Amino acid sequence: MENISMGRKLQERLSHKWRNVWEVLDDSKREELFDLNEEYKDFLDKSKTEREGTKEIIKLASENGFISIDEVIERKIRPVPGMKIYGNNKDKSVVLFVIGKEKLEKGMNIIGSHLDAPRLDLKQYPIYEEDNFLLLKTHYYGGIKKYQWVTLPLALHGVVIKSNGEKIDIVIGEDEKDPVFFITDLLPHLAKDQMEKKMSEGISGEGLNILFGSIPYNDKDISERVKLNVLNILNERYGIVEEDFTTAEFEVVPSGKSRDVGIDRSMIGAYGQDDRVCVFTSLKAILDIEVPTKTAVALFVDKEEIGSVGNTSMESKFFENMVSELINLSEEEYSEIMVKRALANSWVLSADTLAGFDPNYPEVLDKNNSPFIGNGITIVKYTGVRGKGGSNDANSEYLGKIRNIFNDNEVVWQMGELGKVDQGGGGTIAYILANYGMEVVDCGVPLLSVHAPYEIASKADVYMAYRGYNAFYRQ
Ligand code: MN
Ligand code: MN
Repeated sequence: MENISMGRKLQERLSHKWRNVWEVLDDSKREELFDLNEEYKDFLDKSKTEREGTKEIIKLASENGFISIDEVIERKIRPVPGMKIYGNNKDKSVVLFVIGKEKLEKGMNIIGSHLDAPRLDLKQYPIYEEDNFLLLKTHYYGGIKKYQWVTLPLALHGVVIKSNGEKIDIVIGEDEKDPVFFITDLLPHLAKDQMEKKMSEGISGEGLNILFGSIPYNDKDISERVKLNVLNILNERYGIVEEDFTTAEFEVVPSGKSRDVGIDRSMIGAYGQDDRVCVFTSLKAILDIEVPTKTAVALFVDKEEIGSVGNTSMESKFFENMVSELINLSEEEYSEIMVKRALANSWVLSADTLAGFDPNYPEVLDKNNSPFIGNGITIVKYTGVRGKGGSNDANSEYLGKIRNIFNDNEVVWQMGELGKVDQGGGGTIAYILANYGMEVVDCGVPLLSVHAPYEIASKADVYMAYRGYNAFYRQ
């Protein structure tokens, strides 16, 4: 110790280095980390669509004492500190509240993430027979690289509303005994022309047709016999007919469960971790809250991947209306100004993923400003494209407070930015909440292979996201 040079001492005091989570955790914390990630994998496997995610969140919340806002309104229950309330928005998005000691007007501590993920949706008239194959037409959802979705086992997750109004959930391709579905690709031997195309054109959107069947119905007098055989199987199994597809919502996602990645099991490979990694960690964080000072809110919204539009997205009035309902239940006399104050005085972590540094693609990432998977929860001051366009640019005063919350609670964190300047970019739900006057900063988990059928997260970051979100609610 006595041999530490002056320069070294000065360096330690003045300069900064990001920490790696694995290097700072003791054995008991490591055990906690791995246990949490087992729960995370289970959540991922049960939540492969926004509908399934909503269902799973409500199930876990209900087990932890949350009651529905509908019940609270109907029974005219007055919200008191520690009361746990959820609101279900059309089975596709959900919000959880843990009522704080302070009045709602003082503001809330909100963490907002999104439940939707890039995928292929079936078109509304998807079924067609060609050359003795039965295929399904798709229209992709969100930002995908189309070539990644061919020759991959796929599963179908959907909801069908029958003509009698009955609603049925259908999942095919997840159970090991289930069949799976595929989109074909050209063999290299005959791919001369395809291989000369740009990567964005090698597989076309209209080419993402799903191989669904090939046995003809045993009646030579009719045409489209494979189609009839498939319809017959679907009808026998689910009681549905072709017209039911016109009003159904079917999502095609990679088949199978999340897996540990790496010989040291340090990472997780799974579909839809953007943004279910933030969904799970913020859910866990709010489930662990008892009576917070400020009301704690976990928002899980839909349609982020297509621009936060529609009545289940962050742009919808659902959340604002929920706050109005709570103020209406809490106060003798309802006033709109209380709702506005509650919103404007709130703090937000916009919990979303971003690109971790990838040694395979250093050319698009600024090493000093890219988050590294394994270096903890990541704060992102701004997103956007071409000169921060479309970004929520968080205020320095607010950033300083978040930094202190993390440092005071032994949360390993890092600062991050999405890629090199002018290399592309993206956005989140941050700017929508900022419109209310809330303080908002993006704060989430870096991934590798974002938006690919399988994305990679570090278990260390999952753990630190949970700790960071929990500390935010407890401040
Ligand atoms: Mn996202
Ligand atoms: Mn995304």
